[in-house]
Amino acid sequence: MKYFSTRNKNIVVSSKEAIRNGLAEDGGLFLPITFPHVLPLEVLSSYSYLELAHHIVSLFFDDYSEEEIHECVYHAYDSKFDTSEITPVTYFDDCAMVELFHGPTYAFKDVALSFLPQVMKLTASDNRILILTATSGDTGKAALEGFKDVENIHIVVCYPEDGVSSIQKKQMQTSLGNNVSVFAIQGNFDDCQKLVKQAYSDSSIQEALGSMTLSSANSINIGRLIPQIVYYFYSYFRLVESEKISLYDEVDFVVPTGNFGDILAGYFAKQIGLPIHQLICASNSNHVLSDFIKTGVYNRNRSFFETISPSMDILVSSNLERLLYLTCEDDEMVKNLMHRLEKEGSYTITDKMKQKIQETFVGYWASEEDCKKEIFARYQKDGILVDPHTSVALSALRKHKEETNSLYPTIVLSTASIFKFPNAILESLHEEVPSDAFEALDKLSQIAKQEIPFNIRKLKNAPIRFSDSVSKEDAISYLASLIKEVHQNDY
Ligand SMILES: *Cc1c(COP(=O)(O)O)cnc(C)c1O
Repeated sequence: MKYFSTRNKNIVVSSKEAIRNGLAEDGGLFLPITFPHVLPLEVLSSYSYLELAHHIVSLFFDDYSEEEIHECVYHAYDSKFDTSEITPVTYFDDCAMVELFHGPTYAFKDVALSFLPQVMKLTASDNRILILTATSGDTGKAALEGFKDVENIHIVVCYPEDGVSSIQKKQMQTSLGNNVSVFAIQGNFDDCQKLVKQAYSDSSIQEALGSMTLSSANSINIGRLIPQIVYYFYSYFRLVESEKISLYDEVDFVVPTGNFGDILAGYFAKQIGLPIHQLICASNSNHVLSDFIKTGVYNRNRSFFETISPSMDILVSSNLERLLYLTCEDDEMVKNLMHRLEKEGSYTITDKMKQKIQETFVGYWASEEDCKKEIFARYQKDGILVDPHTSVALSALRKHKEETNSLYPTIVLSTASIFKFPNAILESLHEEVPSDAFEALDKLSQIAKQEIPFNIRKLKNAPIRFSDSVSKEDAISYLASLIKEVHQNDY
């Protein structure tokens, strides 16, 4: 399986190269030249999570040997996850929910970021790899955990100073491992993401890197996208198993969306044979994507809101570029649209492209008020608590059902543990919020009648290792000196 750049079809690389480099040399994203087809669903339906992961990943990454893939899968999905199901499914009156937060950092990013370092490691040549990752909160910690002490790789994470929850910040600042660095940027997530893209072409960074290869753990890396396909299949088969649906029935998925990675994996799942009717894109107050799906106009020229679902606070969703290519199959067109986005902050797609997108995608957004109300309503009705990202999805589902009376069985992607966002949840329940984050956690634990997960409990006394914070303007030069330091410490 070869991969090509969305901005130039003639840039073609192997899956190992695509994973190693993250981004194509022209700034485009890698896409597989064709979509493979999975084994018949009858066969796959009895597969365990690990077996499914092995099957799907080896279709896409066929320049790895079967043994290599096996090793990657078994290292990725081991006891780091608190259930052997990896992504268990629970059922409610109106939907099923696949829980993607059973990994070491309690957000869905763990599913892919437990896997990526394993495949990245095997692309090793003589050169070391520097992973540079922008995070709106969850990716950073999941990447730091995944890459911690992996040989020949150093990982640098940058996050928006005031754009992450206090638990998320503490998780990152206290990270362990000898090959990790973390710093804050005085800006928002888009500023962080811009730094990553800029680093690829900046001469001072290139000079600092020397022989090191720059790569990314963001969902622009195809090595992160592919493992996310697995839980779409896995959750579908659980619905079959519990006789909620018959094999080959179509279902809808609702996906709380930020960088468009998770939902794009759903689109890939559909391409390779999963019976998906619609993918419901749920946005928060930064609703660039749900607007785009409705209108065909992508416009990031608008106010940026810091919301209680911070992992979705994004105005430039990188992975949308892949969908654009798949709907027009024209690299020149994608290049032009991306150029316009960079220059003018907006672009409009053709009617034909819009039509194609609307065949599969629908978009809704939830205000902060909607999101809080949904948390409260679910707690009142079913006695369950969901995190604010999942709540955005549930609110979108509510709107979709009201608008369309859709009867399709629905699977909601539940993307984070409630214990990552205690303040927002307490507020939604009209409870007083203690000013100390750990008191807030205790209070939430009592209300939820669940124990605080160990890796969050232990943060309380963990020493801060990383507290640097830099302005947007200084970010590149800060990064360049950080990379030079990494070099000095190694040689
Ligand atoms: C990252 C994240 C999302 C958004 O996923 P994308 O792939 O960026 O669209 C949603 N919820 C949580 C909890 C996340 O961490």
